[in-house]
Amino acid sequence: MAESTTFNRVVVGSTPIGLTKFYMSLNRLCLVLNASYEAINVTSARRALTLVFKGAAVVEEVSAFTIRAAKINVPVPSVVRLMKYRRMPRQNRAVSRKGILLRDGGACQYCGARLPSGNLTLDHVVPRSRRGPSTWENLVACCFPCNNHKGNRTPQEAGMTLARQPRQVSLHARHKLLAADSRAWDKYLFA
Ligand SMILES: [Zn+2]
Repeated sequence: MAESTTFNRVVVGSTPIGLTKFYMSLNRLCLVLNASYEAINVTSARRALTLVFKGAAVVEEVSAFTIRAAKINVPVPSVVRLMKYRRMPRQNRAVSRKGILLRDGGACQYCGARLPSGNLTLDHVVPRSRRGPSTWENLVACCFPCNNHKGNRTPQEAGMTLARQPRQVSLHARHKLLAADSRAWDKYLFA
């Protein structure tokens, strides 16, 4: 069913709002906690509500926003918690191109050039051909010329130096990077 027919009237507090604001409410960021209360991801309120309606998650914190669906006001969640514990191997924690580029300040980690994201690629410090993993610790922002020059070599072999050792960015830092506004997240985020 299309959302426009499901949610035919939209209310923030007691004030009806336009559809644009309605969709913005659903695109607000929502923190996802594991069943153990450990923060594991950030998603849209829309996806978080889907998890709640499917019975896969419960709402832990709500935002100031509500949407009106079938004559009931549904608060837009800012934190949800999964009902079932999900095993999260450390390496798989939401490594993303956007996250790597943000962490590295949009600068090539070899020559230091600050470039628009379209002019940057991700470099495997230990090349994939040598079983270098796709992890926070082995991926860096890199310009195309440096990436070509490095090829299938380690930085040492190519005589290149990393600006800094790549590390996993904590959820707390990513939360800041995403400039999310929710104070409600703070008590779930450590580091
Ligand atoms: Zn470069």
